[in-house]
Amino acid sequence: LCQHSTTGPIETTLCDYETIESVNGELYSTLNELVQMPFFKYFQVDLYRECPFWQENGFCMNRECGITTVDESEIPEKWRAAALSKIELPPLEERVRLPGCYYRDSDFCFLDDMTEGEYVDLTLVPERYTGYSGPSAHRVWKSIYEENCFGLSELNLLTSHSPAQVTLPDTLTDVLREPINGETADGECLEKRVYYKIISGLHASISTHICLEYLNQTTGEMGPNLECFVTRVASHPERLQYIYFNTVLLLRAVSRIGPYLRDYDYCSMSMPMHYDHLLAEDIQEEATTLTTLSKVIDIAEHVGKFDERVLFRGENANILKEEFKMHFRNVSRIMDCVGCDKCRLWGKVQTTGLATALKILFEMDETALDPRKNHNLLQRSEVVALINTLHRFSESLQAVEIFRDMWKKTGESD
Ligand code: FAD
Repeated sequence: LCQHSTTGPIETTLCDYETIESVNGELYSTLNELVQMPFFKYFQVDLYRECPFWQENGFCMNRECGITTVDESEIPEKWRAAALSKIELPPLEERVRLPGCYYRDSDFCFLDDMTEGEYVDLTLVPERYTGYSGPSAHRVWKSIYEENCFGLSELNLLTSHSPAQVTLPDTLTDVLREPINGETADGECLEKRVYYKIISGLHASISTHICLEYLNQTTGEMGPNLECFVTRVASHPERLQYIYFNTVLLLRAVSRIGPYLRDYDYCSMSMPMHYDHLLAEDIQEEATTLTTLSKVIDIAEHVGKFDERVLFRGENANILKEEFKMHFRNVSRIMDCVGCDKCRLWGKVQTTGLATALKILFEMDETALDPRKNHNLLQRSEVVALINTLHRFSESLQAVEIFRDMWKKTGESD
């Protein structure tokens, strides 16, 4: 039986969450190694596209908002967009079509890769407090919630919440079904609730990073700010649940795509077929990347329990899925309206990562997932975003532990 903790505003999570918590230490340290590796640390992104929805003037002048891009010559040629566009696709008849859709119609987001954009070394721009806030940030969040087909946004956004206690559901499938703010849990609204949980969980995870590395105005140093975490996340227990929800969703996607990821080419050299031309250190680097990634996939296979089959069923399934996809694509476009480069960068990484997970869960059948049949299933930027997004969420769960300890200490000193 699941129980709700009574140890204060930072919930102790039980049942299926407990499984995630028990592996998160290992998951996080493995992911931490992985995202420092060249294949996973360079992300190509077009940061300077116009906001398609409104005139955005809210640019953040704070030093913390800016980022430095990497000169393209530092990126292995094989990973560059120009080189990628030269890749010869197999003949049309040999390509596997994803069920029910044309290639790229299956995407849940607009991808920057293969178009324009610069490279960023993600390890040099940690997601943390930047000072970006006020009407510009609120407008972006509000628009993202309003993408929710059933207008659930007004239920939770920009309204004051009184700290509430919720009963933790028995299984993650129950979390999936559990209503938001008392809405009736009929099957029809499931997809909308899932959309809300994904967005609210992303929002809560970003807030957790902000609070973990918050600017102390007195010392000028960055450090964890308990009050920030309690106000923004812990006093709304469902937000914490949605961080777990996103983590499980991502793990399930990694587990499903596991065989494909194990078969992926992580080598940075242009001539992978002629091994004598490769430097020993490149071969070593590729081997280490694969071993580390395999550990992540092993964990994902063990705990990535999410039953995607309960979604997009019934007579309107395809319409709902297309609607869901369209809304999620719009979220990736709303990211162009974020008035702070660093926030926009991480917003794009994470919406791409979540969109990739959704594509893996809802657009790909076993044939499509077969690496021998569908070699070009994911673009490099999708693989990079998926793993970095999982790293973000896993880091948020680690941060929850830090805040729990801080909370306990405040109790001891009272
Ligand atoms: P906000 O976080 O702006 O939230 C607005 C309102 O939404 C709240 O009043 C509340 O009612 C509701 N709300 C809050 N959290 C949730 C939730 N989890 N679920 C449902 N409703 C919720 N700032 C940084 O310092 N560093 C960053 O890296 C960064 N990245 C960002 C990325 C994006 C895509 C966006 C849109 C903003 C980012 N920001 C970042 C800004 C940051 O998210 C906040 O908007 C800012 O710190 C102001 O916070 P706030 O307390 O006013 O509430």
